[in-house]
Amino acid sequence: MKANKEKFDAIIIGSGIGGLVTASQLAAKGAKVLVLEKYIIPGGSGGSFKRKGYTFDVGASMIFGFGDKGYTNLLTRALKDVNEKCETIPDPVQLEYHLPNNFCISVDREYEEFISKLSNRFPKEKEGIRKFYGTCKKVFNCLDSMPLLSIEDPAYLFKVFFKAPMSCLGLARWLPINAGDVARKFIKDTELLKFIDIECFCWSVMPALKTPMINAGMVFTDRHAGGINYPKGGVGMIAEKLVDGIEKLGSKIRYRANVTKIILKDKKAVGVKLSNGEEICSDIIVSNSTRWDTFGLNNNDKGLIEKDYVPKSEYKWSKTYKPSPSFVSIHLGVGGELIDKNFNCHHIIVEDWEELENEKGVIFISIPTLLDPSLAPEGKHIVHAFTPSSISEWDNLSREEYLTKKENYYSFLIRKISKIIPKLDQNIDHKEIGTPRTHRKFLGRFEGSYGPIPNKKLIGLVPMPFNSTKIENLYCVGDSCFPGQGLNAVAFSGYACAHKIGSKLNINDFKLPD
Ligand SMILES: Cc1cc2nc3c(=O)[nH]c(=O)nc-3n(C[C@H](O)[C@H](O)[C@H](O)COP(=O)(O)OP(=O)(O)OC[C@H]3O[C@@H](n4cnc5c(N)ncnc54)[C@H](O)[C@@H]3O)c2cc1C
Repeated sequence: MKANKEKFDAIIIGSGIGGLVTASQLAAKGAKVLVLEKYIIPGGSGGSFKRKGYTFDVGASMIFGFGDKGYTNLLTRALKDVNEKCETIPDPVQLEYHLPNNFCISVDREYEEFISKLSNRFPKEKEGIRKFYGTCKKVFNCLDSMPLLSIEDPAYLFKVFFKAPMSCLGLARWLPINAGDVARKFIKDTELLKFIDIECFCWSVMPALKTPMINAGMVFTDRHAGGINYPKGGVGMIAEKLVDGIEKLGSKIRYRANVTKIILKDKKAVGVKLSNGEEICSDIIVSNSTRWDTFGLNNNDKGLIEKDYVPKSEYKWSKTYKPSPSFVSIHLGVGGELIDKNFNCHHIIVEDWEELENEKGVIFISIPTLLDPSLAPEGKHIVHAFTPSSISEWDNLSREEYLTKKENYYSFLIRKISKIIPKLDQNIDHKEIGTPRTHRKFLGRFEGSYGPIPNKKLIGLVPMPFNSTKIENLYCVGDSCFPGQGLNAVAFSGYACAHKIGSKLNINDFKLPD
């Protein structure tokens, strides 16, 4: 055992965006924090990696919460709070859908343009379409009119209620509601309801009936309000700049620092142990690892908390939520002439509505070089595509079976993408294939999962836990906390976590943020 004597107000396990926003917010409040990341770059699923002159996004590439107005632009705000900023490139179109029955539609930044295109396709539902998306806007307006901090802190709740009482009541009303129920109140056409399903699925990996209305309100409105904005230099820039801000404020991040245990004393978290045997103490420990990995919920021997001390509430959580499937991802460098400069950056292909939630049922495609050509060598483009795939498809294979399966999935993806980018297979300069095993290993995520999804239909976001845990001084942050997956959602979780810890350390500003 090697004891590290340096003192930190908080240790954050993991440098995903949830972990980094917690760390940067605490650093901005004057705390000294240490971030321990087991991989070699920051950002987790929101990072970027470089190969042969290409900068590839690990996962996230459609970025919400990056506008410059209101309170929901949490990524912009988190950077600003540590005196950093990312140059961003506005995307004129959130994404283009390629759906069954020759239904193709793009979601424009301009709200009216999108609503009128959708209404032209479903003229009888014109009014229902306006009412559904209009309700989403009302939810968003509630969120956007109040500073978003920890709902667990009574002092904050009191102050924010005083500042925006109607918005607070509005949000309380929508908290237990799912988007699919709202859609069914206004819309009858089954194809249009399927469209609302894929609108939800593409970021929540659930159909609308299981997608909380609060999240839908945020996503379906922010894309037209703040808009989708791509960080110049790649999505990893967000994490890199947060790290810069944290370090400039005197806090630290260490890479290749794999936490294997959270040390408990008298049932309180008091430190962490690394795989090299080093022990580091702090009175506050924050885990940005998933709840399954933190508490060893499906395998007690692999958790960071010793099995006798895992709170019952965590087992209950794992009965309420299950891990979504992982993905097979391909990262390609391709000849620039294959893609027209007016092509949209993000695309989704669904060929059969019945397959929506199944293995390989949806194809996600992103071509970020259309927004930022500097991500690839001159004259080249990046094509990043992925399709849902379960770890059960990939475990227990021989090396040869594994490699063959990877190539089969790769060919499947190329075939599907070729429908919108013809001749793709003839001009590939570089390729990388990631499987659920790759995501499990390099993102340190249970089963390589995208995140938690409800086991059955739930009452909106109500069962999703906040940041405190039943173990004193241990907090969780990231996508297995309220309000779930997505960079802006985990940034919210980071803000809330830092605020909750800040109230314990007595370092929060009395005033609500401007
Ligand atoms: C393919 C894909 C596409 C996506 N597309 C989008 C998108 O377009 N837009 C969007 O908003 N979101 C998207 N997402 C979702 C989004 O990326 C995630 O919800 C979000 O990044 C999760 O952040 P997090 O803070 O929970 O942590 P994670 O990203 O999971 O990061 C956790 C970090 O903790 C580290 N860690 C874990 N355990 C330990 C340990 N024991 N010791 C030390 N370090 C540890 C990991 O190495 C990792 O770096 C996508 C995700 C994927 C996988």
